[in-house]
Amino acid sequence: MNILLKNLTIVTKDSVTEGQDILITDGIIAKIGINLTDSADTVLDCTGKTAFPSFFDMHTHMRDPGFTYKEDIETGTKAAMHGGFWGVAAMPNTNPVTDNVPVVEYIINKANKFGYAKVFPVAAITKGLEGKELTEMMELKAHGAVAVSDDGKPVSDSNTMRQALRYADMAGMPVVCHSEDLSLVNGGVMNEGATADRLGLRGITRAAEEAAIAREIILAKSYGVPVHITHISTKGSVELIRNAKKEGVKVTCDTCPHYFSLTDEACEGYDTHAKMNPPLREAFDVAAIIEGLQDGTIDAIATDHAPHHFDEKKVEFDHALNGIIGLETSFAVGCTYLYKTGKITLSKLAELMADTPCNILNIEPAEMKEGKVANITVCDLNETWMPTPENTVSKSKNSPYYGKELTGKVKVVITDGILKLH
Ligand SMILES: [Zn+2]
Repeated sequence: MNILLKNLTIVTKDSVTEGQDILITDGIIAKIGINLTDSADTVLDCTGKTAFPSFFDMHTHMRDPGFTYKEDIETGTKAAMHGGFWGVAAMPNTNPVTDNVPVVEYIINKANKFGYAKVFPVAAITKGLEGKELTEMMELKAHGAVAVSDDGKPVSDSNTMRQALRYADMAGMPVVCHSEDLSLVNGGVMNEGATADRLGLRGITRAAEEAAIAREIILAKSYGVPVHITHISTKGSVELIRNAKKEGVKVTCDTCPHYFSLTDEACEGYDTHAKMNPPLREAFDVAAIIEGLQDGTIDAIATDHAPHHFDEKKVEFDHALNGIIGLETSFAVGCTYLYKTGKITLSKLAELMADTPCNILNIEPAEMKEGKVANITVCDLNETWMPTPENTVSKSKNSPYYGKELTGKVKVVITDGILKLH
């Protein structure tokens, strides 16, 4: 089974090369070159389109097991495929929690059964996400877990986090920190500021995120161990991590598309599609997040794809659940708000969406090289489209980008050498 992609621009983290053909033979990238004349079972004319090494999302909520009315591994991996992702890391706040080997195996096996995208389980830091007793990290890793996180909740007890960082380091897995000081959140539901005041909603101080990140950095520094901070959203967080990196602390971090494209003004009208944790911030935070992406302070873009049922969002703002879906719009938001605005290059976008998320999790990233398994995402960088509930593949329809025009569309997806979408 051969596939020939004709006349592409190929983007990698190191280069952009126009006018290339890619021949895929038995799932492997056999040849990359100009005017390949090999015969193939499937020939796709990709003139005007751009090929990336397929993306990897290091922060997805698959909701499976336990919350499959929101999403399940079939619909979630299908949404990932439509977003150009070959693989995702699934957060452990499922029911049962991913704190034991049977759940890790269930997730991997179920994803393999459907074959839309691979799922790498993130195991819990603490049993039951209760913040008390550490999980059996070595054993979980041996069965396929790639990281540990209590995402959705912080590990509030500093001594528990200290032990978790040291144990995870021994186990060879990163700790993915949902950094939040709950006492500082103090019942807030959106970013503290003028918009919250106008709406009469209780605000969340940036310090709730930044104080927790400062703690993670100090612990990582004290013991010389790595730490990964997920979904950073504030200017202060960027500055803390930038300074820590300068000092040689082994800290990495990611942000999400909504933090470089939206502000807390999206909450106007009490729009619960703009409610997430951490909350959307203000324009100066957005600018600082983009600077962090440009200068390498922020290592990766992650979606924090968080499906919720209509009934969980169509309630008063105070009571709506936190989170939005993101797998199907991540590339387009990056293309629209980072590349088309001239803020970052295509190579940088490839690095942030394809390479560094894998490197942080010790997973081999997709590579556009002869001899490698073909994991290729072909995009039209000029196609404009509008996300709607109707064109959403995810089971949940909670996106703040509905009705917004985005530029950049995933057109062809080849995963594990198989043409999945075209
Ligand atoms: Zn989180």
